[in-house]
Amino acid sequence: MAECPNKAKNTQKCTCTNTGCARHGVCCECIRFHRENGGKPGCLTK
Ligand code: SF4
Repeated sequence: MAECPNKAKNTQKCTCTNTGCARHGVCCECIRFHRENGGKPGCLTK
């Protein structure tokens, strides 16, 4: 996974409680992962 230049800023505002996730703060990877698996990112479920 490429390093996201916005990761630190995104992480500060991310409401997902799974802070150990490799996609945490990398919104494009997070959205892609959940779309492919039929779910929603944590920020859209709270
Ligand atoms: S919403 Fe899913 S992919 Fe995104 S950080 Fe949380 S657990 Fe990871």
